[in-house]
Amino acid sequence: MSQDDPHAQPTGATGPGGVYRPGGGAGVGAATPSKPVVQKGKQVVRRPDVDTLFSINPDGSRNAIHPADVSGRFQRRKHVFFFVLIAIYLVMPWLRVGGHPALLIDIQSRHFYLFGHTFNAQDFWFAFFFVTGLGFTLFVVAALFGRMWCGYACPQTVFLEGVFRRIERWIEGPAAARAKLDKAPFAQKAVRRGLKLAVFAVISAVITHSFLGYFMPVEVLVEAVTSSPSKHPTAFTFMLVATGILFVNFTWFREQLCIVVCPYGRLQGALYDPDTILVGYDHKRGEPRGPAGKQGSGDCVDCYRCVAVCPTGIDIRNGTQLECVGCANCIDACDDVMAKLGRPQGLVRYDSLRGFETGARRFVRGRVFLYVVLMFAGIGAFAFALTRQRPFEASLARARGSAYSLEGERVHNSFELQLINKRPSARKFTLRASSAPNIEVVIGASELELQSLEDRRFVVHAFVPKAEFKAGLRVEVTVTCDEPEGEDLVRVATAPLLGPTSIRH
Ligand code: SF4
Ligand code: SF4
Repeated sequence: MSQDDPHAQPTGATGPGGVYRPGGGAGVGAATPSKPVVQKGKQVVRRPDVDTLFSINPDGSRNAIHPADVSGRFQRRKHVFFFVLIAIYLVMPWLRVGGHPALLIDIQSRHFYLFGHTFNAQDFWFAFFFVTGLGFTLFVVAALFGRMWCGYACPQTVFLEGVFRRIERWIEGPAAARAKLDKAPFAQKAVRRGLKLAVFAVISAVITHSFLGYFMPVEVLVEAVTSSPSKHPTAFTFMLVATGILFVNFTWFREQLCIVVCPYGRLQGALYDPDTILVGYDHKRGEPRGPAGKQGSGDCVDCYRCVAVCPTGIDIRNGTQLECVGCANCIDACDDVMAKLGRPQGLVRYDSLRGFETGARRFVRGRVFLYVVLMFAGIGAFAFALTRQRPFEASLARARGSAYSLEGERVHNSFELQLINKRPSARKFTLRASSAPNIEVVIGASELELQSLEDRRFVVHAFVPKAEFKAGLRVEVTVTCDEPEGEDLVRVATAPLLGPTSIRH
């Protein structure tokens, strides 16, 4: 077994364990598949193959994967990106724009804040365009660059590779030491494992609290954290459950989330085409594998470095596999080997199937064009909707359960006026009846101040002399919003009046 190959597993199996492997066999850039088991001295060693999940042993038990350390250009870029994403994630709940949280989905009060824009539950339709735009953006990325999202921006990868795996290395050492520690008696590993698990638990709690900061204002969150859990039982229970899930995920479940749970991982397979840029192995250049200097060998020296660094335990030389999260570890590992051998880099590289086969690349394709159009349609509709968002809502609706009533010689209609301030700060409103002169209107308030996203309802009564009532009459209330800077905003809330004539017609 190679010293640097923590994935090589001693096994008594004579072949793959028949574990279901999603995604089928070798795909893009399929090369000579690795042998699933090899003889190393007296030991039979299991190698990754295309028919089984390497993270599951032939007997169904978990095969813990400890990817070896790797450095290189993609690692440097990736870890800078991870740092930026984690910083944004932790800082965002504390940022304020226009006196409100930069991003807050306050489900309890049904208020949403997005970089100075305020929304209430009635604006939920905005989310459709936002999600559509975001969804097709991911489609474009997947069609062009395969699992770029998974390798560089998915929270699972960002936290696992950017935080948890690093801490694990600091506490337990490099991959081979970690694999050895797995097999060590409990007494020998209790201190290191205990320390690691304690740190993992604290970090899981920090991630959860930051997540909560997107759903409750940070002032409320801080108050909840510093007071008794009995005052915030729902938030406390959520925190405990979410921290527990994150802890189990980042401690134990890890790459299984990408391989067997994540639906987006599977969907991306359907978005690939021969021109999608993926991490792949140049089998034309690499095969036949053999030691450096052997006559007739390709560039692959079969050193297994690309396998040893893979966080999902696959051998990229077997072709594109669903387990590949596009992390580029194998690219950096192989480039390093090629540099030491004085051979050109890029035996394992980002390229398309067409690129690997013919050297030609095609960026603009029909399906990419379609995804781009749909992406801009979603983003454009969302941006347009934002510009059309009303600064306040004023609507008149007939009071529940009432049509009209006859009071002596007058027809009486009752309404409810709903007023919502959608400005990010408080505003003064003036309410004035503006119906025809023969309609007497009584409004529950004439002047009021509403806080941002505050919602008030008033009763509005309308009276019309019975003799003057005719179909088509409407009650009107003019609402003026006092804008401290710029022109006042005016809206007219209107509703039809019902009466004996309107019933006959
Ligand atoms: S790291 Fe490169 S040379 Fe080594 S086995 Fe992988 S592809 Fe071959
Ligand atoms: S095959 Fe390479 S890119 Fe894919 S998951 Fe493994 S190391 Fe990452």
